[in-house]
Amino acid sequence: MRLRHIKGAEETIAESPYVVQEPKANKGRWHEFFGNRNPIEIEIGMGKGKFIMELAERNPDINYIGIERYSSVLLRGLQKRAKLDLKNIWFLRLDALELAEVFDKDEVSRIYLNFSDPWPKDRHAKRRLTSDRFLAVYDQFLCPDGRIEFKTDNQDLFRYSLESIPEAGWRIDAQTSDLHNSGLAEGNVMTEYETRFVEEGKPICKLIASRG
Ligand code: SAM
Repeated sequence: MRLRHIKGAEETIAESPYVVQEPKANKGRWHEFFGNRNPIEIEIGMGKGKFIMELAERNPDINYIGIERYSSVLLRGLQKRAKLDLKNIWFLRLDALELAEVFDKDEVSRIYLNFSDPWPKDRHAKRRLTSDRFLAVYDQFLCPDGRIEFKTDNQDLFRYSLESIPEAGWRIDAQTSDLHNSGLAEGNVMTEYETRFVEEGKPICKLIASRG
């Protein structure tokens, strides 16, 4: 998702009470930051943040961090956030490649990747959030029993991920190419993109991966 640049987005984000401005300073101290020992779950590429804000409302005993690299997109999420009364969610404007500088070993319990950009050209494969390059980043801060939950409508990206994830030494614990008609549908929270694709009748793929 890349919205047209919104004038003043950077300034608004820099002043937002919902954004952690210096996230690298919290490395190894996120539980202190939240003021509890509750698990920390992150969504990378949260877009406008519907999914992660709904999770935060449903699960007050889990801490959530939404990550988005584009200011104009994050800004939309912040507008939504301002209408909610939540203590367990924060946002970072950041590229996922920098995440090992933000989170310490075992600091994160779960990583959500929802409708990540497919980068269809082979020469851009390294930009896919399920490529070995990003898996090596996640490996540095995900708990030993932590997991990645990945949803996509894109069959090619799904097929690619079913190969790239085991090749990087991770295990696929569950998968479906029709989430909404599968056992994995229970408790599913829809993202913005997912809502649109489901309305169009497109099947949604999902996999859950761990280090086994
Ligand atoms: N997750 C949302 C949903 O399902 O509705 C948004 C999906 S949108 C197609 C993908 C989002 O991931 C975009 O907003 C994009 O800016 C963000 N993104 C892609 N690569 C990223 C990266 N390396 N770091 C942080 N965000 C990224």
